[in-house]
Formats: sequence, structure tokens, C-alpha cells
Amino acid sequence: MARDYYEVLGIERNASKQEIKKAYRKLAMKFHPDRNPGNPEAEASFKEASEAYEILSDDEKRRVYDQFGHDGLKGQGFDPGFTDFSDIFSAFGDIFGGFAGFGGGRGGRRGPRVRRGADLEMILDVDFMEAALGAEKTARITRHVHCNTCNGDGLKPGASPAQCGTCAGRGQVIQQQGFLRISTACPACRGQGKIIQPEDRCGSCNGSGKVRHTEESTIKVPAGIEDGTRIRYSGKGEAGDPGAPAGDLYVIIRVREHELFRRDGRDTYVQVSVPYATMVLGGDIEVPTVHGEESLKIDPGTGSGKVFTMRGKGLDDPRGHRSRGHHHVQTVVDVPKKLSGEEEQLLRRLAELQGTKVAEKGLWGKIFGA
Ligand SMILES: [Zn+2]
Ligand SMILES: [Zn+2]
Repeated sequence: MARDYYEVLGIERNASKQEIKKAYRKLAMKFHPDRNPGNPEAEASFKEASEAYEILSDDEKRRVYDQFGHDGLKGQGFDPGFTDFSDIFSAFGDIFGGFAGFGGGRGGRRGPRVRRGADLEMILDVDFMEAALGAEKTARITRHVHCNTCNGDGLKPGASPAQCGTCAGRGQVIQQQGFLRISTACPACRGQGKIIQPEDRCGSCNGSGKVRHTEESTIKVPAGIEDGTRIRYSGKGEAGDPGAPAGDLYVIIRVREHELFRRDGRDTYVQVSVPYATMVLGGDIEVPTVHGEESLKIDPGTGSGKVFTMRGKGLDDPRGHRSRGHHHVQTVVDVPKKLSGEEEQLLRRLAELQGTKVAEKGLWGKIFGA
């Protein structure tokens, strides 16, 4: 359950924009990943605060949140949540701006950084048979896309970017690390030397150049796909900086187990119970395969546990390079739990003939001679 955003930022429900920003800035500095390396709790707090700020700093989102809460945001396609830190820095970079030495994330590189969008990863659960025979699945995917209103540059129509105050337009700041003074890309403008003033921000994306967008996508699951396979959709990840390519979307296939079938690569396995008489005398039986029932010839004198291989009745190669795998059928003797009187008589007669010791008739049988 997500915490209340006002509680997260420690502010009143009627807090002003300035108070919201101040509260977030305080928390962001405290939990900043550069100050808390390898501390997952600080990382979680940082993300939580950033999420709260993302919503409460946006009038429209704040209104929806105030009225309908977390569920309302989801309903409006505003569901928050950042994939990684660079997301947070690209959205609120100016917040960290006044504090040279923080922000900018994975800093150190010189010159303007035009960043490719982040990759997205999602898990798609499929049934055993869907994986075996192939399927088309629909998935709801939420990602950042370029804002159409400003074409991704984050500017209001007619506005132009201002010189960055933190680096005076140079795109670089000097950072003190111990004895070293290092010049790094300015965190406020991410090395661009320019910044968008709040009043010049595009109204649709709040100056980030990106908007969250949810869409239904059809995912083709090729026949024979294995558990854990990653399918890559080039350019279907998060939008990048203007001019930079979007990230990729990776769909990881998770295959559910089947009550009957097991598989190993392209080969499938099943265990079937076969009547004793068929195992001894031979005969044809119907066995399940992933492609439906198939007839299998049981040789006379088949031992329990014997495995028959039905060639070419397994799974397709999802890449289409190799031929279909095999289906392996293990036959075990079907031992009936209940017998008719006549069946029992015949079995006892057989045991007698073979000199096999068997348990005596139950009490009921003794009394009534059934
Ligand atoms: Zn700058
Ligand atoms: Zn925009």
C-alpha cells in the first residue's frame, strides 16, 4: 500500500508549491543516492519522496490525487513510479541544481549529454500450452514518450531556454572530491548550459519533454518458447532526450507448469498408466501430446516404467531453425484400486498358476464367498 504523499513529504494538505518543493528538496538531499551509496532504504525513501513530489508538484495530478487518491491517479494514466535515478534527475534536475556536487546521477562525463531512453523490462506469464503452441497476448505497458505539445524540448510554444545559473552556461561545474577538484557535467542543466525557466515550461509535460503513456500492446509468443526467454522490442522503452533514441522494451516470458506435461527444450514428457493386460499382451493406446491425442503401440511384454519416444511430436523451435522435438511417454502399470468379484477370481487363479503368494481374501469375502 502506497503511503500518503503529504505524509511522505511531511507537509500539510494545503501546502503551497514552494513548501512542497522545499520539503522534497530537504528529503532528496538527505536520501540522495550519492550520499547514501549502497543503502537500499535510502534509495527507497528517495524514490518515494520523488514520486510524491512528481504528483504534488503538478496541479492536475495533485487535484486528481486529492480527490481520488492513489487509485485515481492510476485510473487517469498518471501512475507514478520511476524506473531509475536518471529518470528522477531528468525530471527534477533543477531541484538539485543549487547544490553542485550532487545530482546528475552517474556524473563525470564532459560535454552535453544526450541520453538514450532507459530500457524497460516486464514479465509476461503464459500458460504451458500457450508457450507450446504459440499465442498472442495483450499487455498494458506504461512508459515515457516524447511530449507531442513541445516535440520533446520541454518548452512552451514561443519560449526559449535560458542560460543555466548554476554553471553560467558553461555546462560544467567544479566538484571537490577529497583533494581533487573535478570538472563534471553541470547537474542542473545536465551539461546543456541551458535551462528552462518554470514559466517557460510546456504545460503538458511540465518541461520534462516526456509524458507518461499507457497503451495496450500485442505480444506475439512464438510456439515452443522457453521459460525465461527475453524478447526485445527495439525502441519500445522510455523516450530519450530530444534527438536520442528511445530505450528498448524487454519482455521476459515466464511459463507456468502443466499438470500433465513436462518439457526440456523442444522435448516433452508425459507419464501414462497402461492396463496390466496391455503391458503384457501389447496393444494400441491413446496418449496425450501437446498437439492432441496420438495412438501409441505398446509392445507385448512392456515393463513398467519403459519410455517410448514419439519422434517429431514434441515442440517447435521458437526460432524456426530446427525441427520439432520428440515426445517421451513413460508407461506405468495401471493398478486398479477396486476389482469386481470376477476380476478378483481371475487374478487369484492367475496367482495360483504362477505360484505367487497373495494376501488372503478379506473377511467379507470369507463369509460370503464372493
Ligand atoms: Zn548548468
Ligand atoms: Zn511538453
